[in-house]
Amino acid sequence: MARLIVVSNRIPAPRQRGVRSGGLEVGLRDAVRQRGGIWFGWSGATAAETSLSAQISDSREAVYATIDLSAEDYRKYYVGFANSTLWPLFHYRLGLMEFQREELAAYMAVNEAFARALAPLLLPDDLIWIHDYHLIPCGAALRRLGVLNRIGFFLHVPCPPSAVFGALPCAATLLRSLSAYDVVGVQTPVDLRGLLDCLEHIVGARFVGEDLIRVDGKLMCAIAVPMGIDTAGFAAQSQRALHAQETRRLKDSLANRDLIIGVERLDYSKGLPNRFKAYARLLKRFPEHCGKVTFLQVAARSRVDVEQYRALRRELDRLAGRVNGDHAEFDWMPLRYITRDVPRAVLAGFYRCARVGLVTPLRDGMNLVAKEYVAAQDGENPGVLILSHFAGAAQRMTGAVQVNPLDPDEIAEAMHLALSMPQSERQARWHSMMETLRVDTAQAWSRNFLQALSGESQLRDEMLLNVAARDRIVDEPPAVELARMP
Ligand code: UDP
Repeated sequence: MARLIVVSNRIPAPRQRGVRSGGLEVGLRDAVRQRGGIWFGWSGATAAETSLSAQISDSREAVYATIDLSAEDYRKYYVGFANSTLWPLFHYRLGLMEFQREELAAYMAVNEAFARALAPLLLPDDLIWIHDYHLIPCGAALRRLGVLNRIGFFLHVPCPPSAVFGALPCAATLLRSLSAYDVVGVQTPVDLRGLLDCLEHIVGARFVGEDLIRVDGKLMCAIAVPMGIDTAGFAAQSQRALHAQETRRLKDSLANRDLIIGVERLDYSKGLPNRFKAYARLLKRFPEHCGKVTFLQVAARSRVDVEQYRALRRELDRLAGRVNGDHAEFDWMPLRYITRDVPRAVLAGFYRCARVGLVTPLRDGMNLVAKEYVAAQDGENPGVLILSHFAGAAQRMTGAVQVNPLDPDEIAEAMHLALSMPQSERQARWHSMMETLRVDTAQAWSRNFLQALSGESQLRDEMLLNVAARDRIVDEPPAVELARMP
């Protein structure tokens, strides 16, 4: 079996591995273990210069190969182009998008550095799987170094259509670089439509088959594969966590009140200000819940180097103070707001105690918290998931109470509905969502993508297998060109 080479921007530090592992780690850990291989990425450290070669460390699970970034590259590539240009763009937030040519140049250079450090570690039949918006042109950089392996790319964030994506001044350059990949995966059919629309209208790609596209004369396959969690493992973990000290402390502190829980990184894509406003509306419009409910929001600090994240933190501090100032009693605090990271094992127990899981992002690639909340419930007496229409997870989790996250009144009404919902309806909704979650697991996600990448899948056409290797070599340097608006 071919080795698997996973390439992602960040690799968790050894002592943190598994502690806050999201779907990426869960989905790929087994695949890397089974096939053998390397997990390659940025160490998370900055140094005087960006590394020219990787540092290798071996663990029981995988071989990790990392490079350091210079402080300047970190600022321009990571804080700048990746998180201040691409992140808002992919989340449909053009008003927040900033663009600077020197940050784009650093992004291209860091992708080149990844490729240069990775290429010497490769064997001829390795499967290479590159992840997410930080590394879009990494495949093209590998091709320029003569790498002929099968290379796949997965976009974890949403993919907007050309009318949005075309606003990026280098849209065409980035989209063309996708032609270096044999397979490009996105989370949902909506994202796939967005991607195909961008390829067709911004770079004039042609469709050859249902999922085969010719971009600049090169063929690639585009597929939607939803990212999942280890559903059975997480369900078992949440059951065990019921007896954990943290869960017991939380339950004691609730004094029989219903718990509403929200968990995310503190990010403007997650819709947190509207959620706090919605909770204030619930208490005002449905006063029967006053004193009977507690809302616990975990909003783990994230990307504190980016000003927009610091501004969001200030706004949430203000709103949280306002909700509690307006509604608290001497013996009841309606909102608990934590900006520290809470370990996933602890969250597993918290989810299980919560009568309502509140997941209302303005836009989200998938949203694993929604899946974790449902997997953690007791099927006899499950809680209710309130889920934004604009989370990728909503497309298949139709048993959730779905809301428009831009309307605080609609979220407040959904909270009221969830808190008053009869047990039989809660059970029916939960069963329908668990059916999906048992199929859409993290393991199925990596298996399905890797089948497509290795040519074992029905999804692939024989034509793709016949593409001559030389056809896939991208020999143009990454010129910065201005996008044609569609
Ligand atoms: N998470 C965590 N501790 C926290 C906040 C979040 O372990 O304090 C985990 C959460 O359980 C989930 C992941 O981080 O597995 C977040 O994934 P999601 O897809 O919901 O959002 P993302 O952060 O990737 O945008």
